Amino acid sequence: MTTMPRTQAAWPWRPARRLVQITFAALLVAAPILGLFRIDLPGRYMVILDRPVWLQEFYFLLLLSLMFVFFFTAATLVLGRVWCGWLCPQTILSEAANRAEGFIQKQRGPTRALGIALAALALVGLGLGTGFVTLSYLVNPGDLWAMLSEGRWPTVLWLAGGVTAAAIIADIALLRHKFCQVACPYGMMQAFLTDQNTLRIRFLTERAKDCINCYRCSLVCPMALEPRKQQLQLECINCAECVVACEEELRPAGLAGLVEFSFGQRTPWRKQEQARSRRFPLSGKALVASAVFVAYTVAFVYLVLTRAPVALRVAAEPQRQVEVVGGLVRAAYRVEVTNRTTAPDAYTISVVGLPEGTARAMPAVLAVAAGQEARATVEVALPRAAVGQGLHAFTVRIASLNHGGQEAEEAASLFVPGEY
Ligand code: SF4
Ligand code: SF4
Repeated sequence: MTTMPRTQAAWPWRPARRLVQITFAALLVAAPILGLFRIDLPGRYMVILDRPVWLQEFYFLLLLSLMFVFFFTAATLVLGRVWCGWLCPQTILSEAANRAEGFIQKQRGPTRALGIALAALALVGLGLGTGFVTLSYLVNPGDLWAMLSEGRWPTVLWLAGGVTAAAIIADIALLRHKFCQVACPYGMMQAFLTDQNTLRIRFLTERAKDCINCYRCSLVCPMALEPRKQQLQLECINCAECVVACEEELRPAGLAGLVEFSFGQRTPWRKQEQARSRRFPLSGKALVASAVFVAYTVAFVYLVLTRAPVALRVAAEPQRQVEVVGGLVRAAYRVEVTNRTTAPDAYTISVVGLPEGTARAMPAVLAVAAGQEARATVEVALPRAAVGQGLHAFTVRIASLNHGGQEAEEAASLFVPGEY
């Protein structure tokens, strides 16, 4: 036997993964309640970082989609299916169900019957709870809870919540990790998103003689894999259960485990790859995808945090030319106001930079529904002698009546033609 005595304590993969799973599950439940992210279908807007973003603001949706695409590309290129093993709620629920099932199978008689009954109850509660959390991503959680406690949930919510709960119950009762193996669309994309540097499980072939053929590594694998295989196994979710199991098996003999994580397949017969992998574990593709993800995320967060609650656009009325009639210069401008808040508002419209009394807005106070746009017209009529020929800049300003006087302004210009 080639001995490799243990020189340091094994990394606590299992508690670390549990901590990550619990933290992420808590974040998933809390995100819509804290307003970090949710979609408000009845209001037709999203809430991102506690700010409303209307679905018509398509560039936010586009950026968000691109962020997700590049995040999953980069994460999978570097870490393989680490999402599945460490973060995915389906895995968290499946593993909890496996543990409960294992515990019940060890019981006998009435304890076992009680265990089955409690597990069935817990499963229904879990399904309903998951259905509620899923709906809270689509309807304000506060409204959802109020409607539920007052018994006035509309049929569509009962249907959506019921279908989600039924799907979760069926999945946990019948499928669990089989879903990951055969039906998960993200799992199916793995083949395109991994390369020779991707994190994977490696059996230490150089210490193969230390293996006692106990099969614990394959028995604990939730994806029914054989971790001692040298090929990349795309179904592997990097859960580290095989690493921990082998550690536990060989520890009494004073040996380190034979299964480890590795960036790339560092096998002795692929020296070139081994050298590259040790030099720098990230491939060019992973670096590019990570850089694009970071760039999109920075742009997205900046846009969300700096986005004004009202948008103003001013342009000359396309149907109305500037005209000079009886010594008066006449022109008209279209003012478009978008209320990006979630409450109706009204805005006063004023013009700065033209002689007093020569410009008036119609209407002077513009009412705009939440998330909607409304138009007003600014009519200009000023004596030609007061301004003279040429381009004259002015500013259209709006002020909210309902949101603490929030203001926006936009520059415009008036061209006064020469006399002819
Ligand atoms: S091979 Fe190991 S890391 Fe991969 S899924 Fe199976 S137990 Fe988890
Ligand atoms: S758990 Fe370790 S010792 Fe047991 S079969 Fe797997 S690799 Fe060999």
